[in-house]
Order: sequence, then C-alpha cells, then structure tokens
Amino acid sequence: MEVPEVDEIEGLPPAVALQQQRGSPTTRSSVGSVTTLSNLLRMLYSRAGDYPRNQPLLYAESFSPNTPGGACPNCHGIGRVHEVSERTLVPDDKRTIRERAVAAWPTAWQGQNLRDILVTLGYDVDKPWRELPKQDRNWILFTEEQPTVPVYAGYTPAETRRALKRKEEPSYQGTFTGARKYVLQTFATTQSAMMKRRVAQFLTSADCSICKGKRLRPEPLSVTFAGMDIAEISRLPLMKLDQLLKPYLHGESKAYDGHPEKALVVQRIMEEMLARLDVLLDLGLGYLTPERSTPTLSPGELQRLRLATQVRSNLFGVVYVLDEPSAGLHPADTEALLRALHRLKASGNSLFVVEHELDIVRCADWIVDVGPDAGEQGGEVLYCGTLSGLEKVRRSHTRRYLFPQKEKAARGPDQASPRRLVETSGGHSQQPRPLGR
Ligand SMILES: [Zn+2]
Repeated sequence: MEVPEVDEIEGLPPAVALQQQRGSPTTRSSVGSVTTLSNLLRMLYSRAGDYPRNQPLLYAESFSPNTPGGACPNCHGIGRVHEVSERTLVPDDKRTIRERAVAAWPTAWQGQNLRDILVTLGYDVDKPWRELPKQDRNWILFTEEQPTVPVYAGYTPAETRRALKRKEEPSYQGTFTGARKYVLQTFATTQSAMMKRRVAQFLTSADCSICKGKRLRPEPLSVTFAGMDIAEISRLPLMKLDQLLKPYLHGESKAYDGHPEKALVVQRIMEEMLARLDVLLDLGLGYLTPERSTPTLSPGELQRLRLATQVRSNLFGVVYVLDEPSAGLHPADTEALLRALHRLKASGNSLFVVEHELDIVRCADWIVDVGPDAGEQGGEVLYCGTLSGLEKVRRSHTRRYLFPQKEKAARGPDQASPRRLVETSGGHSQQPRPLGR
C-alpha cells in the first residue's frame, strides 16, 4: 500500500475480525480447542481425575493427542490408521504386471521404470498376477527394500537377460519402490491434491487398533472423571456436558468430600467451564461436541463459536468485525446472538457487523446502507445514520424491508408490479433493471 496522505489518525481502536470463511484450519482444530474447553478438561483430568492404583499423576499436556507425551504412538494421535492390502493395490488379479496389475503404481514413465526394474530383478511381468508365487507378490507390494539396478529401456525380458549376462552398458540405474511404500509415502508427503486423491483410493482407513480411535496413550486414557475417560467426555454434546458438570460447581456432588483441596480445584475449573458453556448454549451450539473438528462446521457455526469465545475474553476497547454472524442460524436463536453482541458492546467494545438479517439490522445504533443494487450496480453509500433516518432514503432497498407498511402506503395500490419496484439512479435516463442483478 502507498503511504496514506494523512498527518494523523487517532481514536482508532485495535480490531478483531471474526471471519466467516475458514482460512486454512488444521484438521486438529476442534470445538474444544477453539473454545479452550479442551484445555480446561485436560486440567480437570490432570488435577482432579481418578487415577488407577500405582499410576503416577500426569500433567495436563499428557491428556492432549497433539503432544508427543499424550499421542497414541501407533496412530500419532490421529485416531485412524491408513493401510493398504493386496486387494486395494491390485484390483484385477487376472492382469499381468505389464498390463498394470499393480494399479496403485504411478502411470507414465515412472510406472514403466518400475516394471523394467522388475524385469532386471528376474520377475515375470507377462504372467497374470494371481499366477505369480505368493512370495514374489508380497515382495513387489510390501517390501521396504529399495534396490538400485541397471535398466535396459525398450528391451524385451529376453533381451534384458542377455544384456545382463554380457554386462552391457545399461540405459540408466533405476531404484525400486514397493507399492505399499509408494502409496503411503506419496499420501503423506505429496503437495499435489490430485496425487493425494489418486493414491487415497488404494488406502483403507480404520480406527487405530491400539487406542480405538481415542488418539491417546493408555496412561491418560486410564484416568477417569465421572466414570468417563477424557475421550469419552469430549464426545458428549455441550448441553450434556453442562448437565454433567453443574452438580460439581457448588459442592452438590459428594465426590470430593474429605478432599477439600481437590474440591477447590474442581470448583475453580467448573466455574470457568460452565461460564463458557453458558454462552455456547445460549448461542444455540449445545448440540456440538468438544471433539468435533472445526473444518466440518458451517461458516455461521464457526463464527458463533469464535463469538462465544470472545464474549468470555473480557477484552474491552476493541472493534469486532463480524461478517454475517446470523448465517445458518435458526431464527429462534437470533435473540441469543443479539444477547452475545450486546454483551460485547456492554463490556466497552464496538461492533462492526455486515448483516442482512433485519432483526439484527434493527438493533444497530448506526447504519451504513450500501447499494443500491448488487455487483456493479452497488457500492455507493446510500445512507449513514441512525435507523429512523433510513426510512426517507428512496433509493435504498433495505428501507423497503425495514419499513414495509409505510412503504406500501406510499407506493399506492397501482404500483405493485415488480418492474416499478426498481428505481433508476437519481435523475439519469436509465432503463429500470430487474431486482437482484
Ligand atoms: Zn492410536
């Protein structure tokens, strides 16, 4: 940007944008991590969980699948494992290697290269796959070895054998990669979305057999609260979690009688958690679970989730920029959204909201109406002021929806056809355009 032509800017507070689009969140971002509920749950399990006999206490981080100390070593904290099988790698076992029996292998030059290497290594590339010895099939698909051998490009198998015997100068030295190694390696490291999709079709994905999809080591999973391990409690909808935790807040639960220090810790954590849950439930998000990954949320859900987090943040003097926070919200929950917005305002913040939902527009202290139409026909500031003043702005479409009764009366009964609804821009001899272009 060029240096703006101003001497001074003042009264400009810091801004926090709660965007609608997702940016590029990692798949490890979840409802629990965005709202910090996961942190509090980990603290709860670390400090107040029930440990099996002889099990040393664990730090909060040990209850996170995103730390080396917590992650299940078999699936690296993902909860699922990718594998290949002969069936997925070789879908049609009547084919020969030359006929691309190993479908998982790359196509074009690299596929031909691997076939030529097999010829040098003495494998029969012209026999149907299923007639090859089991030992050979296993080696070709599953070996971790990567031998480098001379390749005679364009030679028949017989010519290759002869060339090898005569120690002829090869076309080049080629390195072999087994089909399993190729698929898993490509899936894990490729930068190309297309390549990833291609190799993904040869993978099977299943819950990790060690952690049963719970993503953690056995030690943290052996610690319980209310009879559940941390993975199980993270699968409860927020409203269920709220019901479960409430009795612990004021010592109604007798679970910590005789352990006053533990009871105090539990109470502190409960206060924090229940205050967060309160806002989340109020915003109509009680059906979400902490473990739900955020890329699977709708843009509106994600924005309200962030809004709920901000309401609890106790920041003040900040401008919050929100892009259609009502998107995807059930109309019944609009009230709750307004309450959350009011809470942010009441804490000493300003809100800048891009919105079409009229119930929310009506609550604004100040309105900037941009129009008059969409796309190229828009972009003009039609009005800037309090709600009531917008009623007099003839070019505003928003006005018609905000003040429907008066508008109807002013238009008169004979002006109801859709064409008449469109206004040409002030005084120019333009043809009326249909709405919504
Ligand atoms: Zn695992």
